[in-house]
Amino acid sequence: SNHKIAPRIAVVGSGPAGMFTCTSLLRKSPAHIDVFEYSPVPYGLVRYGVAPDHQEVKNCINGFDKLFVNHSDRIKLFCNVKVGQDVAFDELVSNYDAIVLAYGSYRQRKLQTPGDKSTNVVSGSDFVAWYNGVPNSKAPLLDNSEAVIIGNGNVALDCARIISLGVLGKLNETDVPLERLKLLENAAINRIKIVGRRGPLDVSFTIKELREQFRVEGWQSYIEAAAREELEPEKWPAGIERKHQRLFELLRKHVLGSGPTDDKQCEFLFRRVSKEIKADENGRVKELIVENTRTKQREAFPCGLLIYCLGYESMVLDGVPKNDKVTCILRKRVNMSCFEGTIAMSDYWRVSMPSACSTRVYATGWCAHGPQGVIVQTQQQSAAVAETISTDLEQIQLQEQKPGVADLLKSRSVRYISWEKWKQIDEAEKERGKLQGKVREKFTAFDQFVSDKSP
Ligand code: FAD
Repeated sequence: SNHKIAPRIAVVGSGPAGMFTCTSLLRKSPAHIDVFEYSPVPYGLVRYGVAPDHQEVKNCINGFDKLFVNHSDRIKLFCNVKVGQDVAFDELVSNYDAIVLAYGSYRQRKLQTPGDKSTNVVSGSDFVAWYNGVPNSKAPLLDNSEAVIIGNGNVALDCARIISLGVLGKLNETDVPLERLKLLENAAINRIKIVGRRGPLDVSFTIKELREQFRVEGWQSYIEAAAREELEPEKWPAGIERKHQRLFELLRKHVLGSGPTDDKQCEFLFRRVSKEIKADENGRVKELIVENTRTKQREAFPCGLLIYCLGYESMVLDGVPKNDKVTCILRKRVNMSCFEGTIAMSDYWRVSMPSACSTRVYATGWCAHGPQGVIVQTQQQSAAVAETISTDLEQIQLQEQKPGVADLLKSRSVRYISWEKWKQIDEAEKERGKLQGKVREKFTAFDQFVSDKSP
């Protein structure tokens, strides 16, 4: 009878949002799930975003891998498949009972300062991609002693910390690919400026990441003395949360007191608005010109590497209803207060589809609410989304078994990488790593993933 038909669900993206949704769905519903991933290998920013010295964060991939073992009859992975290119969103709509959008928001916001096309002006996401071993990513030049990082969020801190640790040879056991590790170790950088356009109370750092930078031995990391007054407790906004108090306290404790030591220097500067990037005769960045909005003066920061970490833009797949802010239209606006611990009404994660469409569409993670929040928050939210989906699907009588798109992909000769293939890659990478005393030695050329790997 109709009762026996198991729903078929497509998940777009295999990052934490997609995979934690699958985790709960497999528990709560009898659904069959196909996960589509653009990269040749799964797990999104866990593999290609999270910093290599945060291996404990990356451990969540063990849990994800287990899903494909324990529920091998109900969940399938299709890596190297781009929804919107290899298969259209509309084709998912016709071949699944429900779709979970979990494709993140990976497009970096641009700097838009004159001179930003100069050589060695790189986005944080490109720099992160490079040290995390994304195939074929371009190596930055690290042969100048001065680097400037624009941005006051965790990605800026990750970039600073990876440089700081890398030049001291402290990342050797991580999964930074060897040839990239060598470049970091031989880097000439001994001075980093982390530059924010607003004040020290406006930072989006989390306390753990900030503390890690202050703790890198061999580096003196400090807050510029000019920020001292702004960090006085009487200047803090009234009624702020405890975690903000602790963050401000930490910043205040590291305002430069006694003057520079012999260590390498990492200085946090605030209220500097980028005005211009000056290049040398070869077109390579040599100086960032900023306006100090505190003093109204222009200042020049010499640098041979400029990294800008201004956050990510959301984008919407073709065929998904979107609004003028270019986010997908959810039934209600996402209430960010869910990140303070109370996951509010799950209605938030339903995408408004035209009424004729019987396929349910949901969004979770960074593609639903923009690039904010850490993995734990994505996990909580995705569990709530899965709850919504399974409740919704229980209430509809499915008329027929939906076919999915595996055959369609085969007919198009899309060379997808299955979970079994990923495990071979995974084992090979770990094996290569072991020989070097590293947790993993990633493949960094695209051919190494897809060679003779037909579906
Ligand atoms: P993602 O992880 O981006 O996953 C989305 C996936 O969808 C990607 O694999 C992408 O390839 C895929 N995709 C995109 N488009 C398509 C398409 N058209 N078809 C198919 N697949 C597609 N959090 C922590 O808790 N700790 C950390 O240390 C930490 N470090 C971070 C460092 C960086 C540099 C960044 C950017 C983030 C970091 N975060 C960290 C935050 C964490 O990565 C996010 O909270 C989390 O990854 C969001 O999950 P997601 O699944 O929404 O997005």
